[in-house]
Amino acid sequence: MIIIMDTHATESEVESVQREINRIGFRPFMNPGVERKVIAVLGELDVRKADLVDQFKSMDGVARVELISDLWKLASRSYHPEPSVVQVRDVKIGADEVVVAAGPCSVESERQTVELAHAVKAAGAKMLRGGAFKPRTSPYSFQGLGEEGLRILAKAREETGLPIVTEVMDTHEVDLVCKYADVLQIGARNMQNYALLKKVGATKHPVVLKRGLGSKVRDLLMSAEYIISEGNQNVILCERGITTFEDSTRNTTDINAIPVLKQWTHLPVMLDPSHATGHWQFVGSIARAAVAAGVDGILLEVHGDPSHAMSDGPQSLKPENFTALMRQLSKVAAAVERTIQI
Ligand code: PEP
Ligand code: MN
Repeated sequence: MIIIMDTHATESEVESVQREINRIGFRPFMNPGVERKVIAVLGELDVRKADLVDQFKSMDGVARVELISDLWKLASRSYHPEPSVVQVRDVKIGADEVVVAAGPCSVESERQTVELAHAVKAAGAKMLRGGAFKPRTSPYSFQGLGEEGLRILAKAREETGLPIVTEVMDTHEVDLVCKYADVLQIGARNMQNYALLKKVGATKHPVVLKRGLGSKVRDLLMSAEYIISEGNQNVILCERGITTFEDSTRNTTDINAIPVLKQWTHLPVMLDPSHATGHWQFVGSIARAAVAAGVDGILLEVHGDPSHAMSDGPQSLKPENFTALMRQLSKVAAAVERTIQI
């Protein structure tokens, strides 16, 4: 339920409504950054819904009361009709420009990461991606450089000015990763790690939340709701392919998810064509399709020497292929009235 206050509502009328929400056992949540005061009533409203609508409608300063039928409330378009823009340093995600974040799957060394950062920046990427804490299927595979990897990413940012996106896998590492990262990535395998979602929700850091391998769009939005309801509105959703019976590619890109998410939520939407396909040869097609379908950003893997990459080499583009792809993406963006500056 949302309570839309009158444009002339006084502070004390707003406060009385908030007090009443608390008194009856719910939690008021203000939508910041919006001129008109809109208060979301959070909690399981169950059978008392109808009575509550009438009760709040009769309070001073209240213009309207609306029920939000979606299970996700704060992530819903009904609650926040305008698209949200997430600001990462001087980069805006969810505005006209389709933001490309590119870089290695794993940070392997300072030289590799700094060189790649320069290369992807020259091609038009606006953010650098790279994993320092890696979720690997096998415990014997390279697990990432940990804090050393974060330090290397910070160095690459210092040299290129590109904001950095990096994964955080554990609640105990959130504070550490926040010290270095501009954007916290929640990986597909952790999309439903609720303790981790709450912990990143308690920070103000932008978060890229990747869709789980076997998760519905609805589940992704409920996970976003965990983060926003802790007070962090800076959530970017990321489609990265799902597991299906089809095994010709690593995952199956759910292109449908893009328009569905754009309709159901105000949050910016990215797509990761590297994990979605698993083969560098298919990355370009799916990236172009995603831009045409309306994404706000692309997150993809680039490596200088894919055959020797410590993770995800087969799906990593070489810098020269990435540069060529960026030229195409900027044309596709223009065709759908967006921009990609290269
Ligand atoms: C990654 O971005 O390198 C990664 C591990 O992604 P995902 O969580 O989507 O598998
Ligand atoms: Mn990867």
